Amino acid sequence: MTYELPDLHVKFDDLKSILARIFLKHGTSALVTDILAENCAGCERDGAISHGIFRIPGYMASLDTGWVDGKAKPDISVISPSFIRIDARNGFAQPSLAAAADAIDDAIKETGIAVVATRNSHHFSALWPDVEPFARRGLMAITFVNGLANVVPHGGRAPVYGTNPIAFATPVAGANPLVVDQATSVMANGEVRLHALANRSLPEGTGVDHNGNPSTDPHAVLAGGALNTFGGYKGSSIALMVELMAGALTGGQLSFENDFGDCIGAQTPKAGQLLIVIDPERGGNSGFAERVSVLCDRLIDAGQERLPGARRYENRRQSSLFGIPMAEAKLLELQTFAGS
Ligand code: NDP
Repeated sequence: MTYELPDLHVKFDDLKSILARIFLKHGTSALVTDILAENCAGCERDGAISHGIFRIPGYMASLDTGWVDGKAKPDISVISPSFIRIDARNGFAQPSLAAAADAIDDAIKETGIAVVATRNSHHFSALWPDVEPFARRGLMAITFVNGLANVVPHGGRAPVYGTNPIAFATPVAGANPLVVDQATSVMANGEVRLHALANRSLPEGTGVDHNGNPSTDPHAVLAGGALNTFGGYKGSSIALMVELMAGALTGGQLSFENDFGDCIGAQTPKAGQLLIVIDPERGGNSGFAERVSVLCDRLIDAGQERLPGARRYENRRQSSLFGIPMAEAKLLELQTFAGS
């Protein structure tokens, strides 16, 4: 896909329907189609553009090469009252989580916490859609995903970690949930690819070239180079913890074990995901959401520019009024992919 500036607006439902036709054409089941189209259109609507329509060629390539099973039916096992294991059977992560919805609800009702360990799954999107809905129901959720090794550990020269994102969501009294969603690399890989498309240099310290030397050239980082973890050795240790929770605890594979084999062109890393959902009221604190609100107000009073997630919510609000901004060429490209 090329990089163009937006020059028109598309309604969410219209975009979702084009994306659904693309997914269906490339072999996803009706259920998987609906979940992925909603997710991808939602990312575009919220301005999470590194995980919106920009990802469509990657989805298509991974489906076409048979690297991912678009019709996979996840295997869900309730191991203990609060521990749920999912074998996504080489399908996408989001439909697997959706399939476990009842088991998650039962665990929270019974124990106040659900730990969901997913393996053999492909996560190719932003993580906020996985946690925000729980916070809208008054629950707190945190999730971790590993991926394809393209991040060097602190001081290292060869990639070991994925960009290993973490997302956290909590209810806030009288406001939208507070949602933090970030890679543990300095920059998400999709952002590097957007820089490459626009031929824009990366900030100093973002990554290394194929020899492990520092580079601000997005093409060099993508062509055998790698990203750095954020925050020096401390961020590197957080990437390590994500790797273990998402890749090892789930029974999945570590990022450096990802091997695309003969599926040349496939892009979705086969990863693991750990999700923990907690009912705050079980801590005996029925005023939790109010306490979060107090802290959020204090952050703004202290001079923090904005809360995490606020940019997305503003984009969502604007899109509901005016539609989702998009380049006409991009819309035509999607319509061509959809065969319309
Ligand atoms: P960003 O650095 O853009 O943002 C990280 C978080 O910080 C967001 O919650 C963002 O809120 C918040 N934030 C940004 N600026 C400010 C500010 N000035 N004040 C307060 N909060 C702020 O995200 P990344 O580039 O690290 O990640 C982008 C996306 O890539 C994520 O959605 C992530 O899930 C996804 N990703 C997915 C992977 C996968 O394997 N599926 C791998 C790696 C990343 P806001 O959203 O409102 O801007």
